[in-house]
Amino acid sequence: MTVSAEVGRSDFDRVMVPNYAPVNMVPVRGAGSRLWDQQGREYVDLAGGIAVNALGHCHPAMVEALTEQANRLWHVSNIMTNEPALRLADKLVAATFADKVFFANSGAEANEAAFKLARRWAHNQFGVDKSQIIACSNSFHGRSLFTVSVGGQPKYSEGFGPALGGISHVPYQDVAALEAAMSDQTCAVVLEPIQGEGGVIPASDEYLRQVRALCDKHNALLVFDEVQSGMGRTGKLFAYMDSGVVPDILTSAKSLGGGFPISAMLTTAAVAEHFAVGTHGSTYGGNPLACAVAGRVLDVVNTPEVLDGVRHRHQLIVSALEKMATEFGVFSSVRGRGLLLGAVMAEQWRGKAKDIQVLAQEEGLLVLQAGPDVVRLAPSLIIEEADIAEGMQRLQTALQRLVA
Ligand SMILES: *Cc1c(COP(=O)(O)O)cnc(C)c1O
Repeated sequence: MTVSAEVGRSDFDRVMVPNYAPVNMVPVRGAGSRLWDQQGREYVDLAGGIAVNALGHCHPAMVEALTEQANRLWHVSNIMTNEPALRLADKLVAATFADKVFFANSGAEANEAAFKLARRWAHNQFGVDKSQIIACSNSFHGRSLFTVSVGGQPKYSEGFGPALGGISHVPYQDVAALEAAMSDQTCAVVLEPIQGEGGVIPASDEYLRQVRALCDKHNALLVFDEVQSGMGRTGKLFAYMDSGVVPDILTSAKSLGGGFPISAMLTTAAVAEHFAVGTHGSTYGGNPLACAVAGRVLDVVNTPEVLDGVRHRHQLIVSALEKMATEFGVFSSVRGRGLLLGAVMAEQWRGKAKDIQVLAQEEGLLVLQAGPDVVRLAPSLIIEEADIAEGMQRLQTALQRLVA
């Protein structure tokens, strides 16, 4: 293992805008669910690039798709279409409720497209007054100005000038509040079937059914942000498939590219037609490299082996976490679905999720937080059972140190 002496973590503070606070090591190589840093230290990766590395690091199928496409065609712009984009769109349409696909590069951009499309759809059919977007408190939809405004965490939108209008927030899982907020001026209701950043909180199927009914009553579009919950994460290709509640627009990103930047907005033909020629666009959206990789990720993920494997791995991790919860009293509960899991800090350990993240890293284990009170895991969907066992062992040691 070569040590790269040229740059290191301290250079971040010297040359990078200080909007992130990265951990004190720099990873240089990954394989499967293991990572190695500049010093050659090895880590079990249960963070998964925040629910991005669906097939772990450097999966051979992804490497093959990328290198093959890299030797063929990189970029043509949207004045032309391309084969990888058409193939990927075809697969997404075949696998979901959607008839049409729009590609972009990030979750925020897919949501930006979704919100703009909902507004345009309403404007074209019902006029300017039907523009209200209702979203949930504590939700996360990205960091562009529109998406932080729709997102339900004021700390992300404060201090960036005049707020965007026509956006309201209601508590998550509160049907009465949504009913009270909705009117015929509502053009869309936006929610995450599982709030990810907000603390790994799944919505109940009953809530989703009632939201769907309210949207139908008021002629509003239902938008599911599945940027974090989608692409096999729950053991279904998308979380909506578990509930049986079908949205009008769905956004996907993160795991879609397995680590290559790409996002997609999926919708019905009737809604899609309101994005007529010239109404929206993206230079890189539908880029051949990105679509070639995502196409291969979808081929691997959307199989019974991988999706059933997610449910099996869920069981392994949840039972290990519950055992530790009993042993150490650090966690009050474990929640989430599939391989998007949150261990909730018990009362006397509130605010200490970060401490666990730091101790775990010292033990050679990468985990995430979802707010100060939840330790979040979002590993590869095909993580080896041996890596789960080793990861849980290292977490056990970290917790022992925490309570000591
Ligand atoms: C991560 C995330 C986003 C934003 O995705 P970016 O690629 O960072 O723009 C949007 N919505 C949800 C639910 C997310 O988890």
